[in-house]
Order: sequence, then C-alpha cells, then structure tokens
Amino acid sequence: MMNAIVVFGAPGSGKGTQAKLLSECLGIPHISTGEVLRERIRKGESLPSGVLATMKAGDLVPDQVVNEIVEQRLCQPDAAQGFILDGYPRTLSQAERLHQWLGARGERAVVVFLEIDYNIIITRLAGRRQCPQCRTLYNLISQPPRVDELCDLDGERLVSRVDDSEAVIRERLDAYERETRPVLEFYRTNGSRVIEVDAGQGTPESIFERLCQAMEEDDRSKNCR
Ligand code: AMP
Repeated sequence: MMNAIVVFGAPGSGKGTQAKLLSECLGIPHISTGEVLRERIRKGESLPSGVLATMKAGDLVPDQVVNEIVEQRLCQPDAAQGFILDGYPRTLSQAERLHQWLGARGERAVVVFLEIDYNIIITRLAGRRQCPQCRTLYNLISQPPRVDELCDLDGERLVSRVDDSEAVIRERLDAYERETRPVLEFYRTNGSRVIEVDAGQGTPESIFERLCQAMEEDDRSKNCR
C-alpha cells in the first residue's frame, strides 16, 4: 500500500515545515507545488505566460499547470512507496483529479489538516524568511536564525518571498477561502481519512509531535473499525 499524504491548510499554517518533517520521518518525498513553481522560475525554465504574475498577486495558477507538475512528479521512482503533497490539491478540480489518479491505483489520500487562526497566520507569514541557497525556512519570531537574517547552515542572507507582503497574504487567504477550503469538505464527505491537528500553538517540533500522535490515534481507530 502507498502512503499518499496530503498536508492541507491555509497559507502560513506550516504545511512546508510539517511536510518536510513528515518526509524525513517516513522516508518518502515531499512534493511542494509552490516550491516546484518557484524553482522553475529561478532556473528560467519555461512556464505558461502569466504564471509568475499570478503567483506574485497571490492567486492560484491554472489547474492544468499544477496537475501536470504533480502527475509527472508522482510517476518518479522515489514516489512509488508514497509521497507527501504540500500545497496540492488547492481546488476541487485538482482534488478530483488526484482522487482519480490514486483510485486508479487502488489508493486514497490521507489528509492532515493543519488548523490555525488567521491572525496568527498574518504575523507568521510577515516574519517568514528563507535561505536562497539551501532553502531552509526560518521565522524571525518563532524560529529565528542564530545570527540576524543569516542562514545558520551556510551564512547566506535570508530573503522573504515576494508574495509574503501583507496585501498579498490577504489575497492568498481569500483564494484559500474561496477555492481551497471546499477541498476539505470534499475529503470529509467522500470517506477519506482527515486528521486534524492544532497548528497554532507551540514550536514546529511540538506541532509535529501532535501530528504524529494524531496519525497514530487515527491508525489505531482505523484498525478497530
Ligand atoms: P505555496 O508555496 O504553496 O504557498 O504556493 C505559492 C503559490 O504558488 C500560490 O500562491 C499559487 O500562486 C501557486 N500554487 C502552488 N500550488 C498551487 C496549486 N496547487 N494550485 C494553484 N496554484 C498553486
């Protein structure tokens, strides 16, 4: 059986951090559609016109673009035992597509939903920084680097994402409410496992501990059903 995990939540709920920890723990790849898109832009690889502007504005890029990225990535050999999706699916149409892709292989996604208050999100995202070299994530409030604004691992000056300004954050939250939140209902009503985790309190490590506990409890209750 394949371990198909969807880490779901609003922008700034900590999907990237939790997906990375989960990936290290389970030994399956972490696939972030946002990171793949940013990587392609950095490398100057071709993307359909308008994608960069859409991302900068905090809107969602067309389903077809991300569906292709995900389907290509899921067919790589390292994803054969499973994968952790971060930032996908984000629309009902993407969720249906993934559901079909997994269904054709006799599989179904397990959804980890990171719950968090919007006020915490705005503070968190405004303090978010990333190393442009090794991609390590920091937060000036909850996870600061040892030396002001420099990466602990390679000393590079940390950068903010262009879409982490407050106006764009609000647009991204709107896009989440409008298009992504219904995806949770899709999973809740089609019999998928949806595991809820309080992602608003504590350090990333303590949230991860809660996440693992919630997954174990869900596993136990599944075995008793
Ligand atoms: P993220 O790093 O997940 O916050 O994604 C950054 C941006 O990439 C989003 O604001 C969207 O513009 C785009 N993006 C990433 N994943 C998706 C997706 N599944 N569907 C549509 N747009 C996406």
